[in-house]
Amino acid sequence: MLNIDWGNLGFKYMDTKCHIRYVWRDGKWNEGELVEEPYLKMHIAATCLHYGQEAFEGMKAFRCKDGALRVFRPEQNADRMQKTAIRTCMAPVPEEMFIDAIKRVVKANEEYVPPYGTGGSLYIRPLLIGTGEQIGVAPSTEYTFLVLVMPAGEYYKGGLKPVKSVIIEDFDRAAPKGMGDVKVGGNYAASIYAHEKAKAAGFPVELYLDPVKHSYIEEFATSNFLGIKADGTYVTPDSPSVLPSVTNKTLMQLAKDHGHKVEVRPVHVDELETFTEVAACGTAVVVTPVYEITHGKKVITISDPEVAGPVTEKLFNAVQDIQYGRAPDTHGWCMVI
Ligand SMILES: *Cc1c(COP(=O)(O)O)cnc(C)c1O
Repeated sequence: MLNIDWGNLGFKYMDTKCHIRYVWRDGKWNEGELVEEPYLKMHIAATCLHYGQEAFEGMKAFRCKDGALRVFRPEQNADRMQKTAIRTCMAPVPEEMFIDAIKRVVKANEEYVPPYGTGGSLYIRPLLIGTGEQIGVAPSTEYTFLVLVMPAGEYYKGGLKPVKSVIIEDFDRAAPKGMGDVKVGGNYAASIYAHEKAKAAGFPVELYLDPVKHSYIEEFATSNFLGIKADGTYVTPDSPSVLPSVTNKTLMQLAKDHGHKVEVRPVHVDELETFTEVAACGTAVVVTPVYEITHGKKVITISDPEVAGPVTEKLFNAVQDIQYGRAPDTHGWCMVI
């Protein structure tokens, strides 16, 4: 029996039993193996260290009401990691291998999946890196794909908690034809500085505008933007430098299922005042309601600082009910392990 305080997990790294690791050489992937040691021995000239050949993903496994273990939409992450691999000239991980890796590593670490009722989940982090040695700039001759897992606690104890946000005016996180639409660590490196400044100023999530005109909404640093209109319409920005979020796709489908209109289109920053609810969305917390947004000298009030808006709340519950097996999985999103 593990000695874990499931009620106080938070979202921080913890060693588990093992991770799974595969190596690509001479044009093919090996069979992969479960590795207990959480260290990777790597050549000092590996391309991931020097030239940023790195892609990652994030998804979750849930211990459900019926006792079964379910992973939420892993084929979406497999597909996105392939797109990131192609964009960064790395060896793509075939979907079949990606899914097999998830099944094997989750099974091996089954005892680390928080029990049903604790609100926790097993966070799954796939990583693809160039590990061949090379100093001239070119794609690597060797790649390592690994998947690590860790138990994550319930984020919102006692209900969704709205936060304040700020529009970042001094920095951009992605260029229009850059890598904003793929999941590379470099996008995070580009955003940490502004994030630390925003956090210190009292804004837990920061919002980026388009890098050309700084007049259209893009996304929060690590999560997508969604806005709800007074008539219930769900609006999310259409931009080539926004990361296609699986959570956003899921929420859009659920919004449609609940009879809401869904619009994916450019969203001008002046439109912010017309939303009755705004939220950031991503795998880690599903949604973070945003009640106020600071834009230069202007402060835009969106909603009640104490409680999440009704649509955000409804969609959050709808996602969690499917993830924990409390509602029928009508879209076939869950993979039973
Ligand atoms: C990962 C990520 C998201 C959220 O995507 P999900 O698939 O919903 O977890 C949003 N924006 C950026 C920049 C990301 O890297």
